[in-house]
Amino acid sequence: MPGPLKLGLTGGIGSGKSTVAGLLAQHGASVIDADAISRATTASQGAAIPLIRAAFGEEFIGPDGALLRERMRQHIFDNPQAKQALEAIIHPLVGQAIAEQQRQLAQAGKKCLVFDIPLLVESGHWRKTLDRVLVVDCSEQTQVQRVCARSALPASEVQKIIAAQVSRLQRLAAADVVLCNDGISLDELAAQVAELSPQFGL
Ligand code: ADP
Repeated sequence: MPGPLKLGLTGGIGSGKSTVAGLLAQHGASVIDADAISRATTASQGAAIPLIRAAFGEEFIGPDGALLRERMRQHIFDNPQAKQALEAIIHPLVGQAIAEQQRQLAQAGKKCLVFDIPLLVESGHWRKTLDRVLVVDCSEQTQVQRVCARSALPASEVQKIIAAQVSRLQRLAAADVVLCNDGISLDELAAQVAELSPQFGL
């Protein structure tokens, strides 16, 4: 029996990536959310906590046994080697957890696994392991409008986040399929996802 289709999903902030992930899930896909998995490793009882305690010291762990994120953010901001050390702890654990989820979902007979992975475009590793990459695209202006509408961030901050992300062109160059989410309603977006679904085995 062939395994599930592995679909990478990416898009800049405010592109509508999370909305598309939810729509694909409604069609029966399972979404593997690398960010959520990563956060779980440093939550209370997370697999990374004993390793972080050993490498960085008790002062980075809160009374609830979770990583003190703000303290660690400051620490790695001042110290690039510490950032590497933290990533060397977390990345393999995230990789293992993703592999385990993938195994369980394949065993459960899922037809399509959607990989919501930050840095998907930048990471050669992920590009190689995926069958297809779906990019949700829109103009920068639309990104800023959407993010400002859903959060209290000023437009200048949103522009900074966009500038720190991979460029629109690089993202489009990595795409097998592009979903153009600009100037369309949420209903029209849902209709487009429905139209694409069969080619993802859904
Ligand atoms: P991302 O995950 O890419 O940051 P989201 O899926 O969270 O983006 O979408 C950002 C915001 O824009 C959400 O509030 C979402 O409901 C809204 N949105 C996305 N696409 C559309 C659309 N086609 N029409 C109207 N609102 C949209």
